[in-house]
Amino acid sequence: MKTTPSRRSFLKLAAACTAPAFGSLAFAAPQTQQKFDKVADVIVIGSGFAGLAAALEAKEKGASVMLLEKMPAYGGNSAINGGAFAVAGSPLQEKEGIKDSPELMLQDMIKSGRGLSHVDLLKNIVYGTRPAFDFTVKYGVKYKPFVQHFGGHSVPRIMQTVESTGGGITRPLVEAAKNLGVDMHLGCAVTDLILNNEGRVIGVKVLERHDYRKENSGVPQVYGARKGVVAATGGFSQNVAFRMQQDPTLGPNLESTNHPGATGEVLQNMLAIGALPIQLDQIQLGPWSSPDERGFGLVSQFNTIAGFPKGIMVDKRTGKRFVNELADRKARSDAILKQLDENGKPVYPICFTDSVGVKQAQTLKNGLKYGVIKKFNTLGELA
Ligand SMILES: Cc1cc2nc3c(=O)[nH]c(=O)nc-3n(C[C@H](O)[C@H](O)[C@H](O)COP(=O)(O)OP(=O)(O)OC[C@H]3O[C@@H](n4cnc5c(N)ncnc54)[C@H](O)[C@@H]3O)c2cc1C
Repeated sequence: MKTTPSRRSFLKLAAACTAPAFGSLAFAAPQTQQKFDKVADVIVIGSGFAGLAAALEAKEKGASVMLLEKMPAYGGNSAINGGAFAVAGSPLQEKEGIKDSPELMLQDMIKSGRGLSHVDLLKNIVYGTRPAFDFTVKYGVKYKPFVQHFGGHSVPRIMQTVESTGGGITRPLVEAAKNLGVDMHLGCAVTDLILNNEGRVIGVKVLERHDYRKENSGVPQVYGARKGVVAATGGFSQNVAFRMQQDPTLGPNLESTNHPGATGEVLQNMLAIGALPIQLDQIQLGPWSSPDERGFGLVSQFNTIAGFPKGIMVDKRTGKRFVNELADRKARSDAILKQLDENGKPVYPICFTDSVGVKQAQTLKNGLKYGVIKKFNTLGELA
């Protein structure tokens, strides 16, 4: 049965799930005569893809913009991601004669979303891929000269930065933001939202010179926004308590590939003032990582570019395939999580390909060097 929680029950939920990342984390009382240490037209919280795009767009349209990032480096998850960008209708697809369209990508995403997707939001994404791609190219982002075929997509449509990381996108965007005069603050953690008497967010409380490893560290400041505050603070999978409230199966036994700042305190602040995001419980699991290294490493990149599209993944006990390697991420993650031994311990699968399949695998050399990818000269050796 579906019930619609009342605003009051949401406030209770938010109060109950507030993480102790910042001591004062509670929604700030409405302010009439708030004094600000600094004011801009627009305040953007977060310096990932979303925050950088918002800051640049606002700046291009003539607003004064302050961008606040709590970590000691810009970019959040965006900077450490795989730099793979699904573009429906890229110039390279056109050149290679690959027939694609936002409508086809929409159908792929509806299918992968198993009917749960919010179609209007999906439309925003699929019709936005080409303009977003052009936006990055305008600011100097460089992509590999070939299109890749990732799981869940019916045609090859993945563009990837030459660096194979999202840092290949965030770095030029940060440079552009600085050059255009965005007021950039690193190590600046937003702890509270400030509301006016009508309940509109008019500013933020921050800790400047914040060290994310030390709770409540830094110098308190209060910043005002004449036109609006954009919260682009990303995900929350490093906040185990909060993520378990959304999906109780994602306990501390599962590692996260997210950067350490993905703790969701601004999202909780927004819940506390009545924001109603949808599907917070739909948390993606990545079927690429290896127990031989932490996070999204050399093996993840190897699997997505070589192992899955050019090879096979097998249950090491039987040598047999157990899932379509190009199925969507949920199908593959669910299948991997089911691979357990008689004591309930995970049995990690093995993914392999041949000398032709590894041709585009940029991480092969380092993977071999660090022993997380292995090379065999004959099928017998491999067996
Ligand atoms: C390992 C990994 C690989 C991935 N690979 C891909 C891929 O190849 N292709 C793809 O399409 N997607 C990929 N994704 C998903 C993609 O990276 C994310 O969807 C995207 O980066 C989200 O961008 P964002 O701007 O919303 O959040 P983020 O990039 O996480 O940015 C949020 C920023 O807000 C800051 N912040 C948070 N709280 C505060 C606060 N209180 N005060 C100030 N600042 C704050 C954070 O420190 C962070 O810098 C990957 C994700 C991961 C984790």
